[in-house]
Amino acid sequence: MKDRIQEESRTGSGMDKADRKTDERFMREAIKQARKAYALDETPIGCVIVYEGKIIGRGYNRRNTDKSPLAHAEITAIKKASRKIGDWRLEDCTLYVTLEPCQMCSGAIIQARIPRVVVGCMNPKAGCAGSVLNLLQVERFNHQAELTTGVLEEECSGMMKQFFKELRERKKREKESGAAQEYRQLYRPVKPGVRKRKAGYPAEISQCQGESRDHGDQSIEDLSGTGRKM
Ligand SMILES: [Zn+2]
Repeated sequence: MKDRIQEESRTGSGMDKADRKTDERFMREAIKQARKAYALDETPIGCVIVYEGKIIGRGYNRRNTDKSPLAHAEITAIKKASRKIGDWRLEDCTLYVTLEPCQMCSGAIIQARIPRVVVGCMNPKAGCAGSVLNLLQVERFNHQAELTTGVLEEECSGMMKQFFKELRERKKREKESGAAQEYRQLYRPVKPGVRKRKAGYPAEISQCQGESRDHGDQSIEDLSGTGRKM
């Protein structure tokens, strides 16, 4: 069942162009939500829930902002949609999400009896709609959801890749500026070319520092023998 649905979503067979277009249209709305998370430095995941051609619930990841493990895009969208419909059952709704749902959200989707889920890109390490587990289609539960994957996949995964790339670069810059600050704290220039050691620094450094003083105004890097600044 799962394989058939996923295969269909990849090839487009068994699904007319109008449906595919509709899915892409709503996935674009989910991507808009994901961009809101991106703007908050949150992992960009967005979700919309559609009923009779209209969006009745939107959500985006706010896990760090709200300091809550429950603040996933799907949970927020499900809460809003339930409020709008006035029922915990979201039968006849379709949930669009940019990233494969986790175990919590897949559980909530089944609890809400959502009949159809459309996913942008998969999450091989944590996804529970076919990657690690497929909680959406466990025959022994009283409800299963139809699943379509790979809708605007490149756009969804590209956004994730970009986010993590920027995050890595920012962390690297922070690390470097932290090291530079530490260096400045270690060596406070007393007069040009001579840097005074503050109390309590490693013997290795204090030794070089002593040599530096012995050599008048020669700077530390001249004494290291490597031509490299310490
Ligand atoms: Zn989740």
